[in-house]
Amino acid sequence: MPEGHTVHRVARQFRRDFVGRPLAVSSPQGRFAQGAALLDGRRLTGSRAVGKQLFLDFDGGLVLRVHLGLYGAWDLFGQISPLTEGMAALGSMGAPRLRRAGRMGGGERERAAADGGSGADEPFPPPPVGQGRGRLATDASVADLRGPTACEVLDPESAAAAVARLGLDPATEEDLDAAGAEVARRLTRRAVPIGQLLMDQSVMAGIGNIYRAEMLFRARLDPWTPGRQVPVEVARGLWDDWAVLLADGIRTGVILTREDLDEAGRARALGDRSEQHWVYGRAGLPCRVCGTPVVVEDMAGRKLYRCPACQR
Ligand SMILES: [Zn+2]
Repeated sequence: MPEGHTVHRVARQFRRDFVGRPLAVSSPQGRFAQGAALLDGRRLTGSRAVGKQLFLDFDGGLVLRVHLGLYGAWDLFGQISPLTEGMAALGSMGAPRLRRAGRMGGGERERAAADGGSGADEPFPPPPVGQGRGRLATDASVADLRGPTACEVLDPESAAAAVARLGLDPATEEDLDAAGAEVARRLTRRAVPIGQLLMDQSVMAGIGNIYRAEMLFRARLDPWTPGRQVPVEVARGLWDDWAVLLADGIRTGVILTREDLDEAGRARALGDRSEQHWVYGRAGLPCRVCGTPVVVEDMAGRKLYRCPACQR
């Protein structure tokens, strides 16, 4: 599932290439036809992410709320700006269409030469790929939405209510200290395991399975510890760590959590998924700190990776 950093990057991509322009909005597949008709022809005025949800603001106050869920993604065509200096513009953000091992992290795909937009052979706009839920297009850029969990048009009040239901997100909070105190309170008042509370989008918003496992390892915290047994300063530390990791993920597009790497090691790890994580996806492999095999367990239906020796 796309985690918070990816959705913030999607929001940024819309700010770069779509905000300020009138959009042609349609639903190639038809399931979003009514919503598309409400938005078609309106100017996009803003683009923001909170946690794993994207909110696109249109003239007249209407808001498009999109949650990619496990399988959703945006495919981008035409004039698309690179999000990271020195790297190619992206062709896709979100869940990959096919399972593939590549240098990109968090389900991003660089543009193939064929969808570069400058190629004279390709028609523009391109025909929708597969059964797209929605298409948002300027006269130069196209974003196709496929497979989202949620795609709906809201009035300003409903949009504000949707944001209010979400937990705190360090990339959107203005007062990080106050937000951290609130998060520490929410993490330490319940008996639910801390590993589950980190995934609860009404506590902190944007953390998915990879960030969860990695944050708990970085804190050397047993994921099964009941929240109310976690010291307040440790809970507060989780928020501070999330703020650092999220900012880095938004910048690079990659979930790279290893603080033990020097500059060269970090540069290598950005291009090699097997070097990016402490425990996530490493079941049976030796812990990078103590050598104990990393274990994978089920927690509330999701895989949880941890080192049984370091995280006690
Ligand atoms: Zn260990």
